[in-house]
Parts: sequence; C-alpha cells; structure tokens
Amino acid sequence: MGYYFRILGSSSSGNCALLKTENSTVLIDAGFSGKRICEMLAETGECIENVDAVFITHEHSDHASGVKGLARHKNLIFHANADTAHAIQRKLTRRVTWSLFETGRPFLFRDLEVSPFSVPHDAYDPVAFVFAWGENDLFNPSRKLAWLTDLGYVPNLIKQKILDVDYLVVEANHDIKMLEMDNRRPWSLKQRILGRHGHLSNKAALALLQEAENPNWRKVFLAHLSKDCNNVDLVRRTFQPIEISHQCSMEVVNPDSAKGMEVTG
Ligand SMILES: [Zn+2]
Ligand SMILES: [Zn+2]
Repeated sequence: MGYYFRILGSSSSGNCALLKTENSTVLIDAGFSGKRICEMLAETGECIENVDAVFITHEHSDHASGVKGLARHKNLIFHANADTAHAIQRKLTRRVTWSLFETGRPFLFRDLEVSPFSVPHDAYDPVAFVFAWGENDLFNPSRKLAWLTDLGYVPNLIKQKILDVDYLVVEANHDIKMLEMDNRRPWSLKQRILGRHGHLSNKAALALLQEAENPNWRKVFLAHLSKDCNNVDLVRRTFQPIEISHQCSMEVVNPDSAKGMEVTG
C-alpha cells in the first residue's frame, strides 16, 4: 500500500480525517467525540490502537472535542502549537500527551513532513497543514495534501503554499445570502463568521480555486460546510462552471456523511 486519505467527517459541527502512509497512520483534527471517531475508524477497517498521532489545527470544538476521549489511548501523541494545546488542556482533567510544534516551522513525524502555517481565524493560534510523504518512485510516489479550513480570507502566502499540493481540502463554509437570512444566529455571530477571522464563503472558496495559476491538484474536497447556511447542491451548482484542469476532480463533502471522500495511491 502507498497511501490512503479519507475524510471521516467534515462540517461546522465536526472535522476529522485519516491519513495513512507507509509508516504513519494519523488523524487530522479530532472534532467528534472519541467514541464517534473510533466508530468512524471502524467503518474504514481501522482502529484507534493503530493511530500514531493526531494533528490539531485549533481549539474549537469542531476540531478538538475528541481530544478528551482519545487521550485515554496512551500511545496517541497530540501535535499542536503551544497556544492551542494550552487552550485544550486547561479544560481537561486528564493529562494529554502533547508534542508541540511551532507555527510556520515544518517538522518530521515518521515518514511525514508536516508544515503548519498560520490562518486568519478567531482562535488562539489557528493553523492549516500541508503533509508531504513518499520517495517519488513508482511504489511510493511523493504526494502532498493540504488541510485548509477555518479562515476568514486567504492571504497570498497561503495561496502560494497550496498550489503544488496533489490533494486540497478547502473550506466552503457558507452561502453569504443564506447566512444573512438565517434567523437562528445572532447578528454578532454572523459578523464573526463573515469577518476577516471567520470562515470562507462559497464565493471566497470559488475565487481561490479560479484564481490559482497552474495548480498541481488532482482532487479538491470542498469541506466544512455549514449545515444551516449551505448545502451540497448549492455548492455543486456554484462550483460546477469551473474546471481547474483536466487532471483535477472536485468533491463536495456532505456535512451529514463523508462517505466516499477518500483517495488512495
Ligand atoms: Zn474554528
Ligand atoms: Zn471549524
């Protein structure tokens, strides 16, 4: 086996993905209960005992609520920057095994090169990740994957960072009109979501994809959809007119089930 990536779930209410390479089995974010993550792993034929590490983008519950339950598994190492680790740990009684990284400084974990970089979002020190692995031979091709959710806008530096990845998971959080018309969210929360430290709208995500010059992408996953202020059909319709390149396909991650949201190589 070369590698396997699967989104276990992604929406405003929870995010978690599995990445398996030759020498690593890791989770990216843990935004469901530990029990639910174990169930989702079982659906892929995997189990938490085989997972080596969890990489956490930021402390919001839709990315970190599973840390509490998963920390029972003593073999698991949780990678986060200091501010994020602190924000999560201070709400827990159980001591979590943290491995701290510095935002902006790439590091190695087994056969993965992990690049955490800063994103504009209303958390202590939120990051997105690029994971790179492989030897660039036939049996173990070198690949890159970007996990880019929870950001109010896309700074130029980030646009550059994601151009050469093979697989891009990017947030298409809300439809601006649906959010404005939503009557369950107070005005202040709407302003937060729409602001520079909120979330990418469909329109913003579309612009990001359209403006990318010669991207290397093989597959783009549109993820982290809001259950109330977005829907799969609308995202499909919005993104349908664009063709990134002949080699690139696009998937919309259903907020109720991420079934089939995977790549193998
Ligand atoms: Zn967040
Ligand atoms: Zn989120």
